[in-house]
Amino acid sequence: MKEQEVSTKSAEETMKLAESIAAKFKGGEVLELASDLGGGKTTFVRGLAKGLGSQDQVRSPSFTLGNEYHSKRLTLHHFDFYRLEDPGIMRDELAEAITDPKSVVAVEWSGVVNDVLPATRLKVKIRATGPDRREIIFSCPESLEYLLEKT
Ligand code: ADP
Ligand code: MG
Repeated sequence: MKEQEVSTKSAEETMKLAESIAAKFKGGEVLELASDLGGGKTTFVRGLAKGLGSQDQVRSPSFTLGNEYHSKRLTLHHFDFYRLEDPGIMRDELAEAITDPKSVVAVEWSGVVNDVLPATRLKVKIRATGPDRREIIFSCPESLEYLLEKT
């Protein structure tokens, strides 16, 4: 396991950080995003979509549970299982997206689908250390270390 910590001072900085990671996506990557409410998970996903060159608007998928953002390169699947006890068919949708080599999957509040997530995933833990300051801790197995190069 490799761990890396980065601090940001604004939402824009967090997006830039996510953009630089998205630039290294090959397809098939899975990201688990963890923080308190308002920590910046969706903001981070907005940066991922931008980094992939997607024009699609990133919004919190709290009602639909899942959004897709398309780009020429890859499709970004964005799931959010906040306060959900039973993900129902979204569990299958998530499992399918995970196996698609032309997709990248980002999941907020993933506790209820933990069993579906592969062990090989990038964990992104965000901690608010001030109104605009965040500490972002990445951890991943060696096979995903390329995502953290030069971050
Ligand atoms: P979550 O999805 O974790 O609930 P959001 O991304 O929806 O969080 O909201 C994060 C909020 O915090 C946004 O209003 C964003 O502008 C703000 N914010 C302030 N500073 C930062 C930062 N350094 N990184 C990310 N978001 C920040
Ligand atoms: Mg969110």
